[in-house]
Amino acid sequence: MLKMTDEVSKIKGIGTKKQEKLANLGIRTVEDLLNHVPVKYRDRREVLPSNRLSETKDREQLAEGVLIRKSVRPYGNGRTLLSGIFADDSGEFRAVFFNMPFLSKNLTCGERYVLFGKIKFQKNIPIFQVPEICKPGSPKDVRGIIPVYRSTAGISSADFGKWVRYTLSNVEFPAEWLPKEAVEERKICTEEFKYRNLHFPESGVAYRVARTRYVYEILFLHQTIRRWNQYQLAESAGDSSVPEVDLRPFLSRLDFVLTEGQIHAVQDISADLSNSRPMNRLVQGDVGCGKTVVAEAAMYQVACSGGQCVFMAPTEILARQHFEKVSETFEKMGVHCVLLISALSAAEKRNVLSEIKSGSALVVIGTHAIIQDNVIFRNLQLVITDEQHRFGVNQRRILREKTNIPNVLVMSATPIPRTLQATVYGDMDFSMIRTKPNARKKIITRAISKRQRQMAYAEIQKEVEKGNRAYIVVPSIEEGEGSVASVEKVFEDAQKILKGSRIAAIHGRMKPEEKESIMTNFAEGRLDVLVATVVIEVGIDVPEATIMVIENADRFGLAQLHQLRGRVGRSNRQSYCWLVNYSQSETALERLRIMQETDDGFIISEEDYRLRGPGDIHGTMQHGNADPLGDLTRYEKVLACAAEDVRYIDPGSIDEEIRRRIHKYIVEDYENTI
Ligand code: ADP
Ligand code: MG
Repeated sequence: MLKMTDEVSKIKGIGTKKQEKLANLGIRTVEDLLNHVPVKYRDRREVLPSNRLSETKDREQLAEGVLIRKSVRPYGNGRTLLSGIFADDSGEFRAVFFNMPFLSKNLTCGERYVLFGKIKFQKNIPIFQVPEICKPGSPKDVRGIIPVYRSTAGISSADFGKWVRYTLSNVEFPAEWLPKEAVEERKICTEEFKYRNLHFPESGVAYRVARTRYVYEILFLHQTIRRWNQYQLAESAGDSSVPEVDLRPFLSRLDFVLTEGQIHAVQDISADLSNSRPMNRLVQGDVGCGKTVVAEAAMYQVACSGGQCVFMAPTEILARQHFEKVSETFEKMGVHCVLLISALSAAEKRNVLSEIKSGSALVVIGTHAIIQDNVIFRNLQLVITDEQHRFGVNQRRILREKTNIPNVLVMSATPIPRTLQATVYGDMDFSMIRTKPNARKKIITRAISKRQRQMAYAEIQKEVEKGNRAYIVVPSIEEGEGSVASVEKVFEDAQKILKGSRIAAIHGRMKPEEKESIMTNFAEGRLDVLVATVVIEVGIDVPEATIMVIENADRFGLAQLHQLRGRVGRSNRQSYCWLVNYSQSETALERLRIMQETDDGFIISEEDYRLRGPGDIHGTMQHGNADPLGDLTRYEKVLACAAEDVRYIDPGSIDEEIRRRIHKYIVEDYENTI
């Protein structure tokens, strides 16, 4: 029997090579593999008679017939075209295959075959375009609902299917870990049922039941963190107040004056800090509204009386950037800052940790990894989380049980639609920054089609010649299934088109040092153009970047497009954003139109919600979705159930398995996905 915690190498068919490749995808254990859920499914249940086959761009169809004739003929460059004519009770259909002469040997006239693929019509005859083909009843004849997995170089969707199938019939499924009461009351399926039907749904209904559990589990873990936070706050007897200070010495060092929104946020925070109850505040403000300086003011107040602050960023790049800015101001005022990230050498790390322990470091900036295990503070009074834009991660970590309760400040650029605010952030106080520094010019945004993308590249060329910098954003790292723009390909193209520009590619699977050095080179002007995945989405501040081209913009959600666009327009130079649309879909067009029309993050979030509506458990199955997790906060009903059901959890003694899952699925997952 396989165990969930076993390494994937225990699965039949996974050797060291495959194991390594899987590790690159973050898949190490049997459990990880089972959680690599399909991005979409192919519905191969209904065999259509030939007179009901239709021409559709994006849907595959299934037919069965007897091969009556086949032919192989050359068509240029030594390539071959194999075509076959099939008959069923209602008529004829055909199939074409390119460059597969070997297939011809395996096809026998007079035999029956099952074909699955996309269809084009010619002279009223349906023609399968390079379909999958097999004999009915043969091992290859897998009808039903077929999962399609996100694949990567060296691992195909079929590989995943095979391994998951093996795993499902050999693994020992875990015991129920959700509260019994909730499982009974909500009729939640077992985890075994969940895994089986997420991968190989027996039916649409079974899939929905499985997916409901999947969504519920994650939301339940988030809600558990919330409950734990509330409990900690209520339990905390200690006084977490920080003396009020005169902020003028700090403010006078800035080369700008605070906007009205910033002033209000700073006042709210200062009042919270001087109160004996721990602060629990969310500062929400659109990209570029200037949240960092608000955080600095809070840290200044704490540091003045010798208290320690933690400033957590979601990526190392961002942590370093914050560190450089903050330490520049603070060291001059005698406040020692340290950077704590996993890329430090063992000796550096030891040194930093001892400075934190002794209290000589008052400001600690780093990634979320900071709060893990071995960091001991002398007098931690303030924890700031920046750019938390997956809901719920903000929280005073469940790990943090040993220390007393510090003040918590969360900064977010992602406005949550009003209808969801209470459930998601119900336990926090709010400060909104609605104003932006007014020297900013509106970013000129244009949506264009793939055919027009040369225009955008010509604009990049112009900006670079002016001494400005450019981002080219793409949805995926490498060439995969379908025709999604990849970093590899776009990087190649850009090098050809943008002669004379210094270009580099950057993505989440690079080593931290590598990413870091590319980012620094870009920030300091040794690179002109950065071809990037969404690694640059979060918070990067390079004021000289004035143009962004988003390839395959239709692949991104509105909130994400808005975040990405926020990377330009960070100075008083005119900035541009080009959205290159690869798709025909109506909603994609509508999204890009909204992006052209407005740059107000709040309007964008409302529009996003309007377009996508509340989450539909059925949604993914029908349409396929780039992000299988989707945006879970949209599952309003499931969210409400999870929020209610955490009452079954005793926050004073949270189950070991629940803790483990919080780490694995919320904390780590958050860090890994960026
Ligand atoms: P975000 O809210 O997206 O985190 P940042 O804090 O990174 O925004 O600020 C974006 C840029 O605006 C920074 O370069 C910052 O120095 C600058 N900035 C912040 N506040 C002001 C202000 N009141 N006036 C002018 N520039 C400001
Ligand atoms: Mg920021």
